[in-house]
Amino acid sequence: MALADQRRMQDERLARYVREYLYPFHPFYKDLFDKNGVKPEQIKCIDDLRRLPPTSKVDLLPTDEDPERFKKFIQQPTPAALKRAWSLRRKLPLLMQKLRSGPESVKDSLRREFSPCFMTFTTGRSAEPVPFFYSLKDIDNLHETGRRLIDVIGLQPQFRIANLFPYAPHLAFWQVVFAGLEAGMMVLSTGGGRVMGSAGDLRAIGRTRADAILGVPGYIYHLLRRGATEGADLSTVKTVVLGAERVPPGLKTKIRRMLASMGAADVSVFGTYGFTEARMAFAECPTGDPDVYSGYHLYPDLAIFEVIDPKTGEVVPDGESGELVITPLGGRASTVFRYRTGDIARGGIMTEPCPHCGRTVPRITSDLTRESSLKDLNILKLKGTLVNLEDCAQILGDFAEIEEWQIELKKKDDDPHEVDQLVVRVACSDGADHGAMKQRIQDEFRSRIEVSPNTVEFLELEAMLDRIGMEREMKEKRFVDTRPQI
Ligand SMILES: [Zn+2]
Repeated sequence: MALADQRRMQDERLARYVREYLYPFHPFYKDLFDKNGVKPEQIKCIDDLRRLPPTSKVDLLPTDEDPERFKKFIQQPTPAALKRAWSLRRKLPLLMQKLRSGPESVKDSLRREFSPCFMTFTTGRSAEPVPFFYSLKDIDNLHETGRRLIDVIGLQPQFRIANLFPYAPHLAFWQVVFAGLEAGMMVLSTGGGRVMGSAGDLRAIGRTRADAILGVPGYIYHLLRRGATEGADLSTVKTVVLGAERVPPGLKTKIRRMLASMGAADVSVFGTYGFTEARMAFAECPTGDPDVYSGYHLYPDLAIFEVIDPKTGEVVPDGESGELVITPLGGRASTVFRYRTGDIARGGIMTEPCPHCGRTVPRITSDLTRESSLKDLNILKLKGTLVNLEDCAQILGDFAEIEEWQIELKKKDDDPHEVDQLVVRVACSDGADHGAMKQRIQDEFRSRIEVSPNTVEFLELEAMLDRIGMEREMKEKRFVDTRPQI
């Protein structure tokens, strides 16, 4: 579908969705429309979204007055609201159903469409987890986006899949489960390191002769390193799909190299982009060159993405960097609207057809970073310096000798009135010259982010794995901020 036709379809879907679902049934957004003096009929096309201020994670979090704020984000249709909001065209099939099968049958259909029956949670490092609910209709969407993920990545139906995402009420694990069920593929969901341990996961991959392994970037790398050390046979692996966290480009190369050492040649490594609030995930397609990334292929029929200037909230011109804002188009149960993701897309959204697969859907650049990874450091007494922790991660990830790492932000001498310090801890492969490594790390930091670590500490691999909580924590502790909150 040409871009103009996609936009037209999105305009139509958006207008209908606001009129028939969001405004009449959604407590939070009804309020937001009313407060801003916006009538649902005024949202006719994507550009009209600018009439409303974007919402963000802060709006979801519990407050003292409203400890269950998440409930305001669940669509709650009453019979009266349904009658008012829906056009005859929308109501007629239900009236026919009532005549044919009785009122209970209509009630059941509405229950399947709207009643929450499944949930996942956000995984904020600092904030309380927020539940997001799905109705059966939303579960159908998880099947559909699962089918599309498989299609974009190019997983073959006969592939055997090892799903190594942590078993938890988190999107990544369940998106893979539903994708497998939709496609009828053989998926073994091990639950990941916390459930099976890396030894169990390696055995599972070996025994099932898995063609594809899916999991969190840091854990997959750790698992493969262990496999390489123990001489595991992972020669059947053809595809690695990473999700749930940012994928540093250097890591993809390391994973390919590691798998090659275990007999798996020409492995493709893909990143995915998904988050709890979207209730869907997007994937990269094969590019033929392991160092070229296609960007994440969007689903224009299911969601609108805008890119805004994170400071002003204004929409930026096409192709420019900025924060991603999502408006899902078909959701029931917990839904967000014009929602700030906190993710910065460097290079924005690409609208030209994909040069690799030819799909005409827009793509989000593969170069994503989190707004929250920008930290203001007071390295000198008077002047703050903005440091992007994910850029630090990338610098460390680019060193072939560095196996694991952690970055800590702390106060000099643990004195809250002192300056901030950046501590880099690394575990290196055997034989690395620590003196030379330290110098190179400091040089790289200085030349790429203009800040040099105050200390570089060297740890043994096992001690480092323990420190970051590998196989123990839901998320590895890569960035630790021990500065007292003032
Ligand atoms: Zn593509």
